[in-house]
Amino acid sequence: MTHYEPADSFETPRFSDVRTFMRLPNTQDLQNADAAIVGAPFDTGATFRAGARFGPEGIRSASALLRRYNPSLDVAIFDHLSVIDYGDVPLVPGYIEEESYRRIEEGIKPIHRAGVTPIVLGGDHSIALPALRAAAAVHGPLALVQFDSHPDTWDAYFGQNYTHGTPFRRAVEEGLLEPSRSMQVGMRGSIYDMNDWDDAREMGFDLIPTDEVRERGIPNVIDRIRERVGDAKAYVSFDVDFVDPAFAPGTGTPEIGGFTSREAQEFVRGLDGIGIAGCDVVEVYPSYDPAQITALLAANIAHDFLSLIALFKKGAGA
Ligand code: MN
Ligand code: MN
Repeated sequence: MTHYEPADSFETPRFSDVRTFMRLPNTQDLQNADAAIVGAPFDTGATFRAGARFGPEGIRSASALLRRYNPSLDVAIFDHLSVIDYGDVPLVPGYIEEESYRRIEEGIKPIHRAGVTPIVLGGDHSIALPALRAAAAVHGPLALVQFDSHPDTWDAYFGQNYTHGTPFRRAVEEGLLEPSRSMQVGMRGSIYDMNDWDDAREMGFDLIPTDEVRERGIPNVIDRIRERVGDAKAYVSFDVDFVDPAFAPGTGTPEIGGFTSREAQEFVRGLDGIGIAGCDVVEVYPSYDPAQITALLAANIAHDFLSLIALFKKGAGA
């Protein structure tokens, strides 16, 4: 069996070679993989800024700095996982509902079918819907853990049902999620009215705004996530605007008063033991990202996702 792991940066410098995530092999050999990095370079769902189509490229570039061991979670990722950079899913810029959603879903589905866990690099947040369709087609309805300053449960923008502000309402309507096992964390900033958040709660989500996280403390909120998800299979969606624009300026709809990159890591690492069926890191806009700050954050969050998947597999005795 072929074991896929990053190129050794003691042998060849990390700035060399063609950029893949973490210098992993670029292959679609799912038979020999446990996890796959897959890009979804799509930004037709964006309602404000554009440019998330260059997100996967930016994250891959920043990821060259990542190393194999995660000391915070005490795990040597590639001792437990064979990981590939699957490349990008096919899509059609400018055409969301039929062309891109169908192609993204069909692009990701074989990964789940092969028993491989995809880590999807967006793209704007609209890509979470076809990613969830692909995941739910194989795993059934999933528990959602969403880190975001927005719930993305609006009904429509400009009369359109499919945007980066609407994927999770559609996902509930389509039966892709178990809202009673799902959490949305980090909502903040100005909203249109309180229905923006109350609608999500009425759909069955547990929504914790940033203000409430500040009152309760991060460990308390992590406990609440873990309790709610329980042993359900989870889809973890990380919108980089969860993090304060001081740490993540390169994003589509920034909201001030957010978390530090360190606090974001605490949240993600707190998911240790949760069964992740799929996950994404979205809303990186390299053209608004001085010094690759946001791309570096996103790459490190994806690294934590890989670490969690490795720990889960290790815990299962694999
Ligand atoms: Mn957001
Ligand atoms: Mn979002």
